Amino acid sequence: MKTFDTYCFHLIVGTQTLYGPAVIEQVRSHAATIAAFFNEHPRMPATVLPEVVTSPEEIAAAFRKANADPACAGIITWMHTFSPSKMWIRGFAENTKPLLHLHTQFNRDIPWSSIDMDFMNLNQSAHGDREHGFMQTRMGLARKVVVGFWQDEEVVSRIAAWMRAAVAYADGMVSRVVRLGDNMREVAVTEGNKVSAQMTFGWQVNGYGIAEIAQRYRYVSPSEIEEVLQQYLERYELPAAVRNNPTQLNRVREQAALEIALRRFLADTGAGAFTTTFEDLAGLPQLPGLAVQNLMADGYGFGAEGDWKTAALVRAMKTMARDMAGGTSFMEDYTYHLEAGNELVLGAHMLEICPSIAAEKPRIEVHPLSIGGKDDPARLVFDARPGRAVAATIIDLGDAFRLIVNEVEAVPLPHAMPRLPVARALWKPLPSFRDALELWILAGGAHHSGYSYAVTTEMLEDYARIAGIESVFIGNAAETALLRHELEHKLRR
Ligand code: MN
Repeated sequence: MKTFDTYCFHLIVGTQTLYGPAVIEQVRSHAATIAAFFNEHPRMPATVLPEVVTSPEEIAAAFRKANADPACAGIITWMHTFSPSKMWIRGFAENTKPLLHLHTQFNRDIPWSSIDMDFMNLNQSAHGDREHGFMQTRMGLARKVVVGFWQDEEVVSRIAAWMRAAVAYADGMVSRVVRLGDNMREVAVTEGNKVSAQMTFGWQVNGYGIAEIAQRYRYVSPSEIEEVLQQYLERYELPAAVRNNPTQLNRVREQAALEIALRRFLADTGAGAFTTTFEDLAGLPQLPGLAVQNLMADGYGFGAEGDWKTAALVRAMKTMARDMAGGTSFMEDYTYHLEAGNELVLGAHMLEICPSIAAEKPRIEVHPLSIGGKDDPARLVFDARPGRAVAATIIDLGDAFRLIVNEVEAVPLPHAMPRLPVARALWKPLPSFRDALELWILAGGAHHSGYSYAVTTEMLEDYARIAGIESVFIGNAAETALLRHELEHKLRR
């Protein structure tokens, strides 16, 4: 079964009637062969449905069919033969789905000894796809162009990355973002225009009172709590110090009850992402910590302090990363290690880091929270795994959204931090601490991010293109000076 079994992609293969029915039959058969190869490929996360088109009417009908299908997350086009592009104008004009132009050819090799004009006419993607690309550019259509033989791993991988981004975008239009309370007071970067956000990303962001959770919390039954507690014991380590301390164990049970209440509310509202804030907890015993962490592990997006943009981004990144190794979390840049040549960022949050990024089995601990004025919250404490990761953030510039991505290298903790009672990740930003942070700050990047070992820069680039937003990618040393120049130029607009 495919990772995204409720989504599909349409492969619209262009040709024309000029060459006669025999050629069109061959094109049809080749399109089916390519689709079957993609559909059997383990890295392809969704099914591809092929269709061959020969006229403006058929092209418009193919686009209409794809656009009317809520399961269709995107359209891949490829010209097997020449397919005059004025035939495509109507279809393109009506299209609202993400586009990928696959520039491939059915035959890998030129058949040196047997090649004749029939072969040339059948296999002229080199020619037909240029005509196709011209029209897409002429009409100002954003699309990903993937070049190479369709069986090459790199081609499959680039299409798969785009599919993951396209499904994340499709998911963003149907899974709501619910906000429990407003943004943290006086904070700027977590604010934004929710109308613009829905127009751009499809995110339906709506606010609710925390009473929605408090009310559901009161009606959670003891047996439901025991069931969730059992799941905690399977997933996490519960140290004897907590298990044998009735007060602390009760705090864990309260988090289980909060999780049940939150999960019920998310189901009732059709939400895929949510926010909380420590400034609005009336009726709750603690700030949801362990509860939020366990919900994130199940694929929900989350943003703390009312940060709905990051909540939606984390949901999108978790969708992109589905079934991949690595893990994805809400993250905050917290504090630095500024030793020359070994500068590091320590990422963490008050509580809410997703256990999917843990290097070892997370421990449940109960500690006081210095803000919020509630009971000591239970939370998962762990070190994040080492390895290549990305940190991504979306900011609202007033008239545009900007995605900022930094590639980072997470490293093992050089020393234990026995007095730090939260989950933490330690990383070196790329290409260097100085350049990465200079560019991140200059770009206006937030302190909250989506942090992932599975999501790639390519997926995020595809996502930004699909949403039609600005993007800044930090990680390539060669591009640093250019990027600084570009960002400084943007400041003067
Ligand atoms: Mn925060």
